[in-house]
Amino acid sequence: MEMGRREFLKVLGGTGGGTALGGLVASGVSLAPSVARAQQLRIRDAKVTPSICPYCAVGCATLVHSIAGRIVSVEGDPRSPHSEGCLCPKGAAIFQLHVNPNRPTQVLHRAPGATEWEVWGLERAMDRVAELVKKTRDETFVEKIGNGKQVNHTTSIFALGGATLEIEFNHIHQKLMRGLGVVAIENQARI
Ligand code: SF4
Repeated sequence: MEMGRREFLKVLGGTGGGTALGGLVASGVSLAPSVARAQQLRIRDAKVTPSICPYCAVGCATLVHSIAGRIVSVEGDPRSPHSEGCLCPKGAAIFQLHVNPNRPTQVLHRAPGATEWEVWGLERAMDRVAELVKKTRDETFVEKIGNGKQVNHTTSIFALGGATLEIEFNHIHQKLMRGLGVVAIENQARI
């Protein structure tokens, strides 16, 4: 559908600036060619790597587009028999998991009572976590409960993994936690 300046302004006036695109679409203007063209330019010459969304056990299939080792787009894989190219809003935002200026890249520590975060080296942070885990476990480990039943656990440590970590990491992580006697273990939906 052709649209003159007058009709265009009418649509804007009738829908408000924030919903102008919706108004255009509602009036019969197809944005599909422009959207398809923009998408084509963004992923032209990109290497395509099939993958899956890391966020939940649905495991929707994705196509990761990269140019010179940098991810430029992540979208649903239409070949997937169960998701057929669809991603929920969380999955549709996977790109921002990789390319995001707000993503912390250093260990940040805020001491009890402090108001500011302090940058720590990774070694120092790992040593501190190990120190606190050992201290807490030593202080709270229970071998037997009241009726004499052997439990070998501590309920004072909670282990939180994450869906965006690799399956292998989460597997080793929960093995380590179980070995320590931790019973409250959560790795989101992967294990
Ligand atoms: S796209 Fe949504 S539903 Fe699919 S695996 Fe990711 S989080 Fe789960």
